[in-house]
Order: sequence, then structure tokens, then C-alpha cells
Amino acid sequence: MPVDKTTAATDLLTASHPIAWNGRVLGVQPRIDLMRSFDERSHSYLGYLLVVDGHVDGVARQFTVRIGPGMQAKHAIRAGDVLAGVARLPAAPAREAADLYRASGLRFEVRGPKPSLAGPPWTLLSPLLEIYRERGHRRLDSRTYDAKCRSCSWGCRMPVEIIIDQWAPDRREHRFETFCYGPKSCPSYRPGPMRKVPGRKGMSWTEEDWVDEDATAHRRADD
Ligand code: SF4
Repeated sequence: MPVDKTTAATDLLTASHPIAWNGRVLGVQPRIDLMRSFDERSHSYLGYLLVVDGHVDGVARQFTVRIGPGMQAKHAIRAGDVLAGVARLPAAPAREAADLYRASGLRFEVRGPKPSLAGPPWTLLSPLLEIYRERGHRRLDSRTYDAKCRSCSWGCRMPVEIIIDQWAPDRREHRFETFCYGPKSCPSYRPGPMRKVPGRKGMSWTEEDWVDEDATAHRRADD
């Protein structure tokens, strides 16, 4: 979906104001960008998303907060932690998976329980970003993600930038796609429909199942 420049400009104004948030962490997911160009793709491993049940500017809601890998390495934030801090609205919501980003002033109000390996969903893990890169992902049905995977450490909702035409680099589209880095045996997993990537002159490329099989072929079913 093309970026709405009017909306983006409005959000740039609001993005300058720090907003207070607080709440209980339900899970920690990776924050990864995906770039597509027809049948090619590349990832940028940027940090983490905290999935929080709490308040933003005094209003009760569930929301996500983006943090950098350095902040996660320092604090090891996990499900059950109760946190407070300030953050900002994203300047370009069509390109940002988080509801809030540029988090700062983080305070722990309660420390969550010790991490466990129970799942699904696996909520108390926070793998290094390198682990996600090594594991590879499979596409995940967006409805399954919303219903069962929003707090799972192996789930990821990626902002996707699509280069429509390599010879006209300004022609780009943006959308979100959901993926699973978890065990191939997870009973919650549903792939959903195959995804099409638009290209030049009305062409499109379909990402078929073999792409996911290839990306995760080095893992056994329960890994
Ligand atoms: S399908 Fe993937 S993201 Fe969802 S619960 Fe299972 S392992 Fe986690």
C-alpha cells in the first residue's frame, strides 16, 4: 500500500512529543524489516518489540513499543515485567510495526518470573537477533498471528518495502507481513495463502512453499 504522505506529515508533527506509557509485558518479539524486489528479499534486524498490556497517555490498551538491541541486552526484558517509560509515535506508521518507538526513561516497576521454555506461545524467551537470522522463517497467516502469536517470541510482524521496478527506484509499495521463526511442529501454525510480490509491467512473483522449506531446511521439526 503506498504511503499516505498527508498522514505521514501529520505524524511527523506528533512524533516530536514524548508520550508516557506503562504496563505489563506480554511478550517480546523481534523488530525486523523486509525488503522485497520480485523474487529477491533481504532482512534488516533492528531490535525488539515489547507487546504490552497497559496504558498509553493514560488510556488503557494493548500496544507495542520498539526498543533497540542494546536496551534489550542491558535489561533482558521478558514477559511479566511491569515497565514504565516514554516513547514517540512513529513518523511513518506504514513503515513501522511498533505503535510507539524511540523508547527512553525505562523504569522497572515489577520484575517478571524466571524464563521458562513452556509454549506455545513461547512468551518468556528473548533470543538474540542472530538466532532469528540463523533459524529462518516461514510465512504465518495474519489471522493466526493476531489470534495466537502476538505474544510469542517466535512471531514477527514485518514492515515490507517492495521495489516494484529496479529501473524506477521511486516506485515502491509498503505493506506488513507476518512470519514464524518457531518450531515447525508448533500446533498453532497456519501458513495462510501464498504471497504475491508485484513487479514491473503488471507482473508478479508468487512466493511458493518451497521458499519456506528451503529457509528452514536446516532445522528439525521440534527445533
Ligand atoms: S505458530 Fe510460530 S509464532 Fe505462533 S505460537 Fe507457534 S511458534 Fe509461536
